Amino acid sequence: MRLNKFISESGITSRRKAEELILQGRVTVNNKTITTLAFNVDPEKDIVTLDGERIRQKKKLYFLLNKPSGYISTTDDERGRKTVLDLIPVREKLFPVGRLDADTTGVLLLTNDGDFANQLLHPRNKIIRVYEAKLDKELEEKDAERLIKGILLDKRKSKFERVYFEKPKDRTRVTVECVEGRNHFVKRMFTLLGYEVKKLNRKSFAGIEANIPVGSYRELTIAEIKKLY
Ligand code: URA
Repeated sequence: MRLNKFISESGITSRRKAEELILQGRVTVNNKTITTLAFNVDPEKDIVTLDGERIRQKKKLYFLLNKPSGYISTTDDERGRKTVLDLIPVREKLFPVGRLDADTTGVLLLTNDGDFANQLLHPRNKIIRVYEAKLDKELEEKDAERLIKGILLDKRKSKFERVYFEKPKDRTRVTVECVEGRNHFVKRMFTLLGYEVKKLNRKSFAGIEANIPVGSYRELTIAEIKKLY
């Protein structure tokens, strides 16, 4: 790993500032002052210091939360509302990978790894989100088709990748798949066609399913992290 990346991932400073520190001769690796930016370190073995003090990498954490209703997905709230961080009592500073509305339930990933979150949220990577929406009325076939073909939302063509019914007899309960992270995306798509979303549950995000009780959390397994990142 590049030395500047190692320093920035320890939480001390940004990568750019880390480069300045290196050029200023304030960083050593295994007791040798390093001033070349292209220097690579082994995070497991090498001893890195800044101004004589050892720098250690932050432990990276990855959680799956099955979010209950009534919690907002920000890290703090000036109005004092409950946040998803209240549900995962760890000392490290976590943040949610994207957002779910306060009344939406289901899969939410939380981490302290910014690169991991950016990768999952970048539109280029087309990460699949699967939602189950409970509508105020039955979804008509022609509207299901329009949602797949695309409709104008925020002045651009917007669509679901798939629309289907888990129980074909209940057409008020619709499962949709999309690669969008825009705010209130699912609700706004249905609203445009005259439906109200009464309940929304995210069943999976990037293939990670909510296989734990609502309100509980677990760490992602190494295999899951490797698959995602
Ligand atoms: N779309 C919504 O409308 N709300 C969510 O919470 C997530 C996706």
